[in-house]
Order: sequence, then structure tokens, then C-alpha cells
Amino acid sequence: MTEVPAHPRPGHLAPLGFEYAAAPESRAIVSLEDGYGLYVGGRWIEPSETYTTISPASEEPLARVGQAGAQDVDTAVGAAREAFEGAWSALRPAERAKYLFRIARLLQERAREFAVLESLNGGKPIKESRDVDLPLAAAHFFYYAGWADKLEYAFPNRSPRPVGVAGQIIPWNFPLLMLAWKIAPALAAGNTVVLKPAETTPLSALLFCDVLRQAELPPGVVNIVTGDGRTGAAIVGNEGVDKIAFTGSTEVGKAIQRELAGTGKRLTLELGGKAANIVFDDAPLDQAVEGIVNGIYFNQGHVCCAGSRLLVQESIQQPLVEKLKRRLATLRVGDPLDKNTDVGAINSAAQLQKIEELVASGEQEGAEIYQPPCRLPERGYWFVPTVFTGVAQSHRIAQEEIFGPVLSVLTFRTPAEALEKANNTAYGLSAGVWTEKGSRILWMAQRLRAGVVWANTFNRFDPTSPFGGYKESGFGREGGLHGLEPYLRFDEDGADGDG
Ligand code: NDP
Repeated sequence: MTEVPAHPRPGHLAPLGFEYAAAPESRAIVSLEDGYGLYVGGRWIEPSETYTTISPASEEPLARVGQAGAQDVDTAVGAAREAFEGAWSALRPAERAKYLFRIARLLQERAREFAVLESLNGGKPIKESRDVDLPLAAAHFFYYAGWADKLEYAFPNRSPRPVGVAGQIIPWNFPLLMLAWKIAPALAAGNTVVLKPAETTPLSALLFCDVLRQAELPPGVVNIVTGDGRTGAAIVGNEGVDKIAFTGSTEVGKAIQRELAGTGKRLTLELGGKAANIVFDDAPLDQAVEGIVNGIYFNQGHVCCAGSRLLVQESIQQPLVEKLKRRLATLRVGDPLDKNTDVGAINSAAQLQKIEELVASGEQEGAEIYQPPCRLPERGYWFVPTVFTGVAQSHRIAQEEIFGPVLSVLTFRTPAEALEKANNTAYGLSAGVWTEKGSRILWMAQRLRAGVVWANTFNRFDPTSPFGGYKESGFGREGGLHGLEPYLRFDEDGADGDG
């Protein structure tokens, strides 16, 4: 292991009159290998190439990991096929469920270890990986374990059968949670899996292989191949894969859809977003401010459903923005492993550059920027929580996904105008509505073109609730009963089972 430099000092944004003492979570619970192979057929195989994964908060190298090539992917797909046609698809569903329950319990038992690793490799605050990512990841396995032996009841008279080998490609913003969203329903439905974590955050997926070993999952049921976009492309292009599940950028999602057109392979895409968080004049403002902060600064804004466009009713714009700025000054930015930290490190140098470029465009196009005074750690990738006011619909910061801690504030006068502006985007993943009126919530929710609409809250997730988008945010649903469907064939799909 490389020698570990001191963590960056936790910064807080404004002089509050007192300093928080540092409260770092010990990283001793995580023991990293110098290098990792690819997890294929229940064992580690040597990758043809390797690269170094780092901590974005300190830029320290953490481990060497494999860059799987097309040949490696083919071996992994072969192992998944063998496992599918061997024991797994024929296993009694109640037995499949037992493995999923075991995985869920092991994730709970090892939650602290996973949370520390997730924050170390991804840069997110420990309180988020500890209180959100890990409990939700375990909950997904518990939830889908419950469905494994009830598929006949979930889809009555439709003879649900597994699809086969699923190729799954996930992003870097919720590495373990996205893994759980993908693997749990696939396995519950009787499929086997080849999964690629994102290039910058492979470590929790690699630690998950140890959970699979502890759970004694049959070899080849889950295979983990690390690498960059080329590895993802090799999974998409592999002829032995029956279904692709992708979460990531709209650009790559479109390329995958083009490539798969006409191949008969199934596809679900969970892509970007530019969600409107809409605050009406009768909303409880202090509560709304907390929801706005949670909507855009949670996980440094690296959230596909982030409330990145605040639509505020004109009559309350001034008090709301004032309250928001005051609240921003209390956010603590810094060491992801410090339990006080609210906003951690930006996931990569490339993402930081993208955020900086879009923020510069906001200033050039005439929006007014506000950033509270802030001391940032010297090493690593950081961005100060930012608010833009005076944003026009045409500005890039109102149209493009920034995927960083940057909020664009726009105003409206009537519910109809709020709706028009909220839907004026190429995306359609999520939205938030803040008002005291139940009738208005329903009126808005029926008309918002978004897969998820939160009312008087934001960024709430539950394994029982389907999640997914409209328009350029993708198609297909993950979570809930709906999340099983992409992994199943039904009688009505026809003789060859293609759906
Ligand atoms: P990508 O879409 O490139 O990454 C998502 C996953 O796809 C990663 O595992 C990536 O590998 C892989 N991948 C990349 N190229 C291909 C390909 N040609 N075929 C198959 N798989 C591929 O997102 P980025 O990480 O580049 O982020 C860019 C932007 O995308 C962000 O700024 C953000 O706006 C958006 N984004 C949205 C996410 C969401 O949840 N909706 C998640 C992540 C990003 P690798 O990591 O090696 O590139």
C-alpha cells in the first residue's frame, strides 16, 4: 500500500463563531490490496492491462485495478452463460432468494467498511455513504430477495422466465448503490450478470466480490470487470449478452441505443436530468430551503435526479434566496471521511473541469453568481457550493446537466408558467413541488413530464418505488415491481422470448 498522506483539512465556509473539531472516521477498517484482478467465474483472473485508482479528495493512489479488454469481457460473459445454463436458472426460486438475503445481511454487517471505502474512492461525505448508500444498497437486496419466489404472483398468467446474461454498466456517483439497483433484480429474476463499475470508482464493487464469496454464491452468477468506457463498449458489443442495463450520460446512452438497434438485445437506460424543484408562495420556506439544499448539494450534486433548477414563485424569491444563501454559508466542505462534512470532493479532475466550464458559461451569459466564502483543501478536486440567480431559460446552466454543486434559480408567476418552464427541458427524470395545497401537488404531478415527482421533499429513495425517466433521461424503470420486468421474458413475448 502506498503511504497515506494526511487527510485534507475540513473546511467550513464562513466564520460561524466556532470551529467544528475534526471528526474523521478511521480508515483502518478498510484493508486494500495493492492490486485487483477481474472477478470472473468466482475467482480472480489477471487483467491484460491495469490502471491506478485514486482518492479524489487527496489524489493519493489507492490501488491498481484491471482494465478489462474485449477478450476478458468475453471470458466473463462465457462464465455468466455457463452459470445461467448450469445451476442458476434452474435453481428453486426460494434458494435464489436465500443468496440475496445473505448478501443483504453481509452488506449490513460490513456496512462501515463499505461506507469508508466508498467515501475514500468516490469523495462523497461519510455521513451520506453511511446513512444513505449502504442502508439503501442492503435494502435493495432484501426487497428483491422477497420477490424471487413470488414472480408468478407478481406477473400472474404471464409465465415469467429469466432473460439470460445481463450486461450492466454503472456510473461513479453511487457506485455500490447502483450495483445493488442492477444486480438485485437481475438475480431475483434468475439471470446472471457481468457488471462494470465506473473507471474512477471500482473499489466497492471489488470488495463486493468478497461478499459474494462469503455468501457462497455459485461461481459465474455475478462477474465484475473493471475498466473504462472501452470495457463498457465491449460488454455492449458482446454477442453473448441478452440484456444491457446502463446508467450514465445521455450521450453514451444514445450511442448504446444506436448500437443495439436491431440486435434483439434488451435495453434499459437511466440517463441524465435537469430537474425542476418548484417552490410556491405558500410553501414553508425553511423546510423548502432544506429540501433545496438536499436536492442540489447532496453528493456534491453528482445526482442524476438532482434539483438543479430552482423555480421559485416571484413573490417569495427575495426571502427564499436570502435564506438559501445564509444556509449555504453553514455547509462544511472538506474531507469526505470527516463525519461533519456536508459536501465532499468532486469525483474526478475531468468532472471538476466540466463544472468549471459550465459555471464560467453562466457568468458569461449574464447570470449572477453567489459563492459563500470558503477555504478549500489544497489537494484534491473541490468546488464551492454555488447559486446562480437571474438565470434565463436559454442559458446553458438552465439547460445542461452540470452534475456538480451548482443551482440555477429561475422565477415564475403562475402554476401554468411553472409547469411550462419545468417541462421545457430535454430531460424528464424527476421534479419537486413545494406547496401547502394538496390539490396543487396533484395538478402539477399529473402534468410534470418526469419519472419521479417529490412533494414537499426531495431525493427520497426506496427500493419499493420505481425510478426512471422520460425523454432524454432514458427508459425502463428500476426499483419496485417494475424493476423486475426488464429482467424477465413473458409468454406474450412470443416463441423466441424477445420482448
Ligand atoms: P459516462 O456515461 O461516460 O459513464 C457511465 C458509465 O458508462 C461508466 O461506467 C463508463 O465508463 C461507461 N462508458 C463510457 N463510455 C462507454 C461506451 N462507449 N460504451 C459503454 N459504456 C461506456 O459518464 P461520465 O462518467 O463520462 O460522466 C459524464 C457526464 O455524464 C457527467 O458530467 C454527468 O453529466 C453525466 N452522468 C450522469 C449519470 C447519471 O446517473 N445519470 C452518472 C454519471 C454521469 P468510464 O467510467 O470508464 O467512463
